[in-house]
Amino acid sequence: MEKLKMIYEGKAKKVYETGKEDQIIIEYKDDATAFDGEKKGQIVGKGRLNAEITTIFFDLLAEQGIPTHHISKLGEREILARKLDIILIEVVIRNIVAGSLTKRLGLAEGSELKEPILEFYYKSDELGDPLINEYHIRAEELATEEELAEIKGLSFKINSILVDFLADKGIDLVDFKLEFGKGSDDKLYLGDEISPDNCRLWDSKSKKKLDKDRFRRDLGEVESAYQEILKRLKE
Ligand code: UDP
Repeated sequence: MEKLKMIYEGKAKKVYETGKEDQIIIEYKDDATAFDGEKKGQIVGKGRLNAEITTIFFDLLAEQGIPTHHISKLGEREILARKLDIILIEVVIRNIVAGSLTKRLGLAEGSELKEPILEFYYKSDELGDPLINEYHIRAEELATEEELAEIKGLSFKINSILVDFLADKGIDLVDFKLEFGKGSDDKLYLGDEISPDNCRLWDSKSKKKLDKDRFRRDLGEVESAYQEILKRLKE
């Protein structure tokens, strides 16, 4: 399978057409952005690391019965995936308080939540991905009632699978973001990626941050944190 025309270039990925109508190639870039694109930089080796990390997570989820867009890993930083019509909702699942939740609810970073929280954000760069709820989704017809139910069910199931898998590797899954889309067969699939770019991953013992917060907050050792995640996933 080879890359044909580039159809999309985002902050961290490029998407190409392939010879097949319903398949795309996703190329992971080393570019990193934060705070709605205000902070820009590069994390050397990130594209290669995230392509591999995402593949491990998506393969694991597929084994556990989660429908994902992932087909196979191609080159060092490329993935062959099912082409999706992306639903304009970002799902965030939180197990431990961090990030925007600390500010919104005045909670201390690192406090355990009694049960996972699921949040919806409207996927719009222009509006800075505002927080929404199920009523906004229904009123704006961002997803049907059936899709919404399926998205919630799959998101919590994905969370359980990942929490258990990562706990074995000495990693706390603090929070993460998911995106879903419809395939040409009209079925719902998990899309986008699962990597230290869109998850908060802490060392279970030291609570050291092993994710993009190192870039966001200028904590240093960004590249080695991504490498550490890959190393542990492969153990
Ligand atoms: N996240 C993401 N893309 C976004 C916003 C959030 O991947 O546009 C991820 C982020 O990496 C974290 C989780 O979703 O793992 C929750 O992010 P939060 O709402 O705390 O926002 P942030 O502090 O990242 O702005």
